[in-house]
Amino acid sequence: MSRSRIAIVGANFAGLSAAQRLGSRYDVTVIDRSPWFEWRPNIHELVSGVKRPADLRLPRSRLVAQAGHRFLRAEVASIDARAGRITTTGDRQVEFDACIVAVGGASCTFGVAGADRHALPLKTVDDGVAIGRRLAALMRERGRKSVVIVGGGLEGVEVLGEILRRYRDRESLAISVVEAGPRLMPGSPPALDASVRAHCAGRNLRILTGTTVKSVTRGRVHLHSGKSIRTDLTIWSAGATAPALLAKSRLADKPHHWAPVTKALQSRRFDNVFVAGDAATLPRPVARQAYYAMQMGQCAAENAMRALAGRRLREFIPEPKPMLVAFGDLDTFLVSGRSVIASSTLAAAKELVFQVTMAQIDPPVRVAPLLALTGRVARSAARLQAPRR
Ligand SMILES: Cc1cc2nc3c(=O)[nH]c(=O)nc-3n(C[C@H](O)[C@H](O)[C@H](O)COP(=O)(O)OP(=O)(O)OC[C@H]3O[C@@H](n4cnc5c(N)ncnc54)[C@H](O)[C@@H]3O)c2cc1C
Repeated sequence: MSRSRIAIVGANFAGLSAAQRLGSRYDVTVIDRSPWFEWRPNIHELVSGVKRPADLRLPRSRLVAQAGHRFLRAEVASIDARAGRITTTGDRQVEFDACIVAVGGASCTFGVAGADRHALPLKTVDDGVAIGRRLAALMRERGRKSVVIVGGGLEGVEVLGEILRRYRDRESLAISVVEAGPRLMPGSPPALDASVRAHCAGRNLRILTGTTVKSVTRGRVHLHSGKSIRTDLTIWSAGATAPALLAKSRLADKPHHWAPVTKALQSRRFDNVFVAGDAATLPRPVARQAYYAMQMGQCAAENAMRALAGRRLREFIPEPKPMLVAFGDLDTFLVSGRSVIASSTLAAAKELVFQVTMAQIDPPVRVAPLLALTGRVARSAARLQAPRR
């Protein structure tokens, strides 16, 4: 009897967790445009040099092969759920009985004129490397320099911390953070905003909350207030939007909308499609975080198998977990509900979460992953103790 075919589109936190949950009873094809699994929650550390790309990447082909499946490196152009067919931009076709969509989110400039062209996004390892290089080049030049971070959410605050870790002794560097909400990390407890501001006091640094950007040009960020800020480097960390593939494949109603799913992560449009991770919108939405994406990936895989067997689907029940927010080497915050604990010693806990989860994703059962793990731990420990200046 031929095995049921399951296709997974997107193989980062959600997609890879789904692949690792599916057994060899299924004929599984895992598709991603990039050859690397990327640990996105720490990409801000590429900016200071505390992490290198090799610390945050794992080869997808090996991880998928270890799970017993086939990896296809390709850009998915469309998913035809009714026909059970995926088409890639290279016109390859992959047929499926069930599909798990885990395409995450895309950087969003909200139509702000010039932002795509004149600001650097912070979504991938390559983005973090590009920002780190540009910053290092600027610091080698003479004269006063200005960096503008657009978006004072989690990503904006963490990248600010890394810039301060590496360059806070440079008096020629001015930094501005522009945030549309009333405070930094608007969804988090107000104590977090106050703690970050306390670390920034007395530095050449401005935090402009309740402020929106109208346009970005080569050397200036223009605000809706009519004012503008001179800039040598603009970092865009102002949010994410749904990938175009979701609406194009009719998994979402409109462009830039996330894919609505049931409590069991089944698409509200097609019974043979499950959506996991950042791309999904649950009836009661959960935070777009790596930890939830992994949990959702496992649940989507379980439910894809149940659907193929004609069994009842399992409800996705998020297991709440505190969030660790790093502010360079100045502080780390543990956010749990409405409470915040701040201590620079929590940096070790954040690093431990990273190392342990990487080891779960890439279990060191063979010599190569074991060497990679010990190398990652040794490099991280050395750089966290003595960051490059
Ligand atoms: C700077 C930053 C800091 C963060 N900090 C934290 C943190 O501290 N804690 C936390 O929990 N979370 C954090 N997050 C959020 C976390 O990274 C996301 O929630 C998580 O990556 C979502 O996982 P995912 O698998 O749903 O999607 P992603 O990780 O976005 O993966 C989607 C995958 O789909 C692939 N893909 C997309 N479209 C296609 C296509 N058409 N064809 C082929 N492949 C495709 C992509 O290549 C990618 O590999 C942070 C994110 C950023 C950017």
